Amino acid sequence: AKSAGGDNACFFDPAMLNIIAARAEMEADLRNGLRQHEFRLFYQPQVNSTGKWLGAEALLRWQHPQKGMVSPAEFIPLAEETGLIVPIGKWVLHQACAQLALWQADPAYASMTMSVNVSAKQFRQDDFVDTVLEAVTQHHVQPGSLKLELTESLLLDNIEQTITRMHILRSYGICFSLDDFGTGYSSLTYLKRLPLEQLKIDQSFVRDILVSPSDAAIVRTIVGLGKSLGLSVIAEGVEQESQRSFLQTLDCHAYQGYLFGKPSATLSLPQRGNSNAEL
Ligand code: C2E
Ligand code: CA
Ligand code: CA
Ligand code: CA
Repeated sequence: AKSAGGDNACFFDPAMLNIIAARAEMEADLRNGLRQHEFRLFYQPQVNSTGKWLGAEALLRWQHPQKGMVSPAEFIPLAEETGLIVPIGKWVLHQACAQLALWQADPAYASMTMSVNVSAKQFRQDDFVDTVLEAVTQHHVQPGSLKLELTESLLLDNIEQTITRMHILRSYGICFSLDDFGTGYSSLTYLKRLPLEQLKIDQSFVRDILVSPSDAAIVRTIVGLGKSLGLSVIAEGVEQESQRSFLQTLDCHAYQGYLFGKPSATLSLPQRGNSNAEL
């Protein structure tokens, strides 16, 4: 068959078959994982310049029975392609709101916000707005404490629908943060039309902020832009005190990164008696 087919031989490349088989297996695994409740949310704190906790970002983890803890970078792309991100994302919203309700019932955590990542496929579902409102209502959380993280490419894909949906959710109090800001192609015209509350500086700019003058300039510009648009600005991927203090000199409002805490299954407050504990 190979001699007759010439180029067709590539269809029988065993390496390719392996890739296809691995994908099919992972898809079946993902479906099964959802049924078997193998997903977990981890929470990473977000702090202000004095170290006070402002909130946390919910980050998805997959506790695979054989592979152990699987990072979202490994399964979210496939979950998006297969549409599985829709039920997974709905689970994330409910789980995050359930956790937020627990915080809101505890005076020490009551003012914390909960940031939740939303994928494009999920945002474009006809029932997305209802899904979010349902999660907020069912778990009795203050909608103003829920912050949805959207990316620039998601927003721009169908800008009119984006604006409509965001405004509806905003009218119920839901907040929005623009994730990975600076890596996409936001036009300032659109930024002005979106009911955003926060810009989130991508960690790629934070990483080299002390050694790369252009990264420092980009961060300075984003903070200034946030200020002039009336938005809060959070830097992600802050790992070192030197990065934090430099960001502070640029007037950045909020910080997230390993310096303040890695994502973990449970957030615990700094020790009692520590001034940071005063939320
Ligand atoms: P992201 O939204 O940009 O999240 C930030 C990522 O940076 C997280 O990776 C976080 O663990 C990591 N990170 C936090 N602090 C530091 C730091 O100081 N240094 C470094 N090097 N990294 C830090 P993670 O948890 O692996 O998530 C990767 C991506 O997966 C997220 O990127 C987000 O795009 C996606 N994701 C996570 N959870 C969800 C979810 O529930 N739904 C959707 N649709 N996507 C999610
Ligand atoms: Ca995020
Ligand atoms: Ca991000
Ligand atoms: Ca990112």
